[in-house]
Amino acid sequence: MESGHGAHIAAVQQRQREPAIAIVWTDHIAALSRGEAMAAYGVLGAIVGSFLGAALIRLPRGEPIVAGRSHCDGCGRTLGPLDLVPVVSFLILRGRCRTCGVRIDPWQFAAELGGAAVGAAVAAVARDGATLGLGLALGWQLLLLGLLDLRHLWLPDRLVLVLAASGAAFAVAAGLHDPLLLSGPLLGAAVGFAILWLPARLYRAWRGIEGLGAGDAKLLGAIGIWLGPLGVVETLLGGSMVGLAAAAGLALAGRRPNARTALPLGSCLALASFAVYLLQN
Ligand SMILES: [Zn+2]
Repeated sequence: MESGHGAHIAAVQQRQREPAIAIVWTDHIAALSRGEAMAAYGVLGAIVGSFLGAALIRLPRGEPIVAGRSHCDGCGRTLGPLDLVPVVSFLILRGRCRTCGVRIDPWQFAAELGGAAVGAAVAAVARDGATLGLGLALGWQLLLLGLLDLRHLWLPDRLVLVLAASGAAFAVAAGLHDPLLLSGPLLGAAVGFAILWLPARLYRAWRGIEGLGAGDAKLLGAIGIWLGPLGVVETLLGGSMVGLAAAAGLALAGRRPNARTALPLGSCLALASFAVYLLQN
């Protein structure tokens, strides 16, 4: 009994030593240890990721994202709760439908895993409820955009606009206290857009072909609202390194990239900007 009590006190002291982050979503404030927050937001992220996966699969087909209950593409069976547990169902079913054995889209699994990773990573660095909310809103949007560009070389204007508008909303909310705080997002948007748009115009004039997607410039402009001008430069450097590493990987795998190889720059920028966000916090 005595040792149990001592262990409890030790556990409480251990908890108090861990940095706690305050979650202020509702009128109550709950303090979670860093590990608990990472686990909780990892699970939440997997659930968000399952919706992002549905968007990733349905948007390019022109289907509504919320299209009633999910069903198997192979046999048409309506999926039950056991088929829809994020990450876990895919692993237990080994990526196949329980009834007809048709392969479940592995991009769905990638989105769920990515959503969980974003949730856990943001919870790992968040200082308070505000940075937590900002990080999640940014990370999950970047995940969907990055996966869409990776799979389809497509950065839908609508989604980039939502990324820009949500960043602007946060910036305006912060600017209500200190209008000077608005200069970062404004400058970031301008630098982010121009830094890719100008070279793209020059390249087109010189070679007569599109070297960069216009979507990439818009994406970096939207990222600039969130990260500011310095964040844009860091994102561009980081994204270039990701792109070069990917090209080197393809070359090693025997697929030689050339000037016409379409590289999903948007995916590289999404990944790099999320890393920059994590490092800024
Ligand atoms: Zn089936």
